[in-house]
Amino acid sequence: MLTLVPTPIGNLEDITFRALEALKGCEVVLCEDTRVAKKLLGLLAKRYCIDFGQKRCIAVHEHNQKDFLDRVDPSFFNKAVVYMSDAGMPGISDPGAMLVRYAQEHGIEYDVLPGPSAAITAYAASGFLETDFCFYGFLPSKEQGRLQALEQILDHTSPTIFYEAPHRLVKTLEAIARLAPARTLFLAKELTKVHQKFFKGRAKELFEKLRGEAIKGEWVVVVEKSQTPKASLELGIDELLKLPLPKKELAKLLSRADGRPVKEWYALLTKN
Ligand code: SAM
Repeated sequence: MLTLVPTPIGNLEDITFRALEALKGCEVVLCEDTRVAKKLLGLLAKRYCIDFGQKRCIAVHEHNQKDFLDRVDPSFFNKAVVYMSDAGMPGISDPGAMLVRYAQEHGIEYDVLPGPSAAITAYAASGFLETDFCFYGFLPSKEQGRLQALEQILDHTSPTIFYEAPHRLVKTLEAIARLAPARTLFLAKELTKVHQKFFKGRAKELFEKLRGEAIKGEWVVVVEKSQTPKASLELGIDELLKLPLPKKELAKLLSRADGRPVKEWYALLTKN
């Protein structure tokens, strides 16, 4: 059996009883990073006086998960196997989903334990009242993709949560402040940790406030929904292709319509 086990996102005491039981009872710990997993097991053992015994830890991460699953025999999961990522909920901007898919496709019994996740914790702390929200994970790392993603997020008619790396936070705030200066943002820093901090305000104010600071730690951003849903003109690809626009602009529109990269559309439009 495979069990996905959530781990604390900062505060050791957020481990659940069920997570401890699963970790105690398993034979193999699949984990994103064996050093992180062993360190966590050590801390939990000490804090809760648990003898986890000698667990076999195997690294299964973004870069080797496909290879691992191609090679592993389904009978490997006849024993109790857990999967834990470095922190929080496996499968949420972390590996885990491919293991679940493997279990589904091979008739392997699996379970997912609920537990801490930065996205949900930040949303609950945001004070946004909407019951619907979007979760974007991380924005693309390349500039053009990031801007496109931000434009999409700012058009959403539900609040949107995304994860942001500290070294990119101010740049992202700057972009939002330029695109939608009056939009309210909620920023959650270092959730559940000693230096936890919340910021809420208009994009422009938050950018001004944080631009000179040395930004450290882990961050979640929650963006207020768009108050002015874009009038949507539903045009199909064929109709879009007939628009008398420069090819660059047309490629962007087509990319937004079907999700294919702008580059690919541009190459198609400029062929011949
Ligand atoms: N699986 C995790 C979860 O369920 O939240 C998310 C893993 S993702 C690789 C790591 C990102 O989540 C960080 O870069 C940060 O944006 C966010 N994050 C994780 N822990 C956090 C915390 N304690 N406070 C704020 N953000 C956090």
